[in-house]
Amino acid sequence: MRVTVIGSVALDTVETPYGKREDVLGGSASYASLSASFFAPVNLISVVGTDFPKKYLAAFRKRDIDVTGVETKEGKTFRWKARYPADLSHAETLATGLNVFTDFKPSIPPNISSKDSLLLANIDPELQDRIFRSVKPEGIVACDTMNLWIEREKKALTRLLKKVDLFLLNDAEARQFSGEENLMDAARHIASKGARMVVIKKGEHGSLFFSGGVCFVVPAYPLQAVKDPTGAGDTFAGGMMGYLSRRSKITDRDLRRSLVYGSILASFAVERFSVDGLLKTSPEKVNDRYRHFRSLTKF
Ligand code: AMP
Repeated sequence: MRVTVIGSVALDTVETPYGKREDVLGGSASYASLSASFFAPVNLISVVGTDFPKKYLAAFRKRDIDVTGVETKEGKTFRWKARYPADLSHAETLATGLNVFTDFKPSIPPNISSKDSLLLANIDPELQDRIFRSVKPEGIVACDTMNLWIEREKKALTRLLKKVDLFLLNDAEARQFSGEENLMDAARHIASKGARMVVIKKGEHGSLFFSGGVCFVVPAYPLQAVKDPTGAGDTFAGGMMGYLSRRSKITDRDLRRSLVYGSILASFAVERFSVDGLLKTSPEKVNDRYRHFRSLTKF
């Protein structure tokens, strides 16, 4: 089965204690698609401006990511500018330029099937919902978000929650959305709004999975060198959905494994700036880390 990914395709300017990169490939859908493509072919739906370098579209195509749904609109590509502190604990957003995303009305390419898995990567929840309604998905649907949309579009996000199977957000966002300090309480609150499964990502501290009464924890893959944490969450979501899209019936074991794969893909993403860590790795290296991960967590 294919994975349809909708979200931002961006040009990021990022500064970490290990360097600075200007106008490099970023965006929630870029990270998520590249990550999902390790497991399944991907259809990407997004929009870029006329300033978007063609080489980035070529990089997607090389990874079996169909970019028919990436519209090129007159204007500038979505821009995000951020800086990380010495401990890389969080991104300080310096500027967000929605640019061509303002008033973006995507048309769904005919090759998108309602049977595919759908990942609504981080972008305006109104847009996520519009895609949901157009695709009418029958497969698994996941939704990711960020603090900006919880602040500005909480109503739209809450409406969307009722429709999706899996809702992913980080710990700070889970607290912000729920008003609960404790993450178990936050997950319960979010689940009560409709999401069947909730994943709370905690950066270098791993992630928590909640569904009904079940809770499951996955550590982050331990790394010696993290250069740029941008896109870790999107990569995690893409890896999870890519892995799940290969299953006809999703079992508890599949869900657990999908979180481990999400964690491993994210570990490659943060080792280099932009999407370079994902472009430089291979399925063999992913599987090596998967085996190592198993030995690290077995007791
Ligand atoms: P993360 O590190 O998982 O928070 O994701 C960072 C990526 O999200 C960057 O590559 C940005 O281009 C993208 N991004 C930042 N702000 C937004 C936003 N408001 N909507 C969609 N994508 C965004």
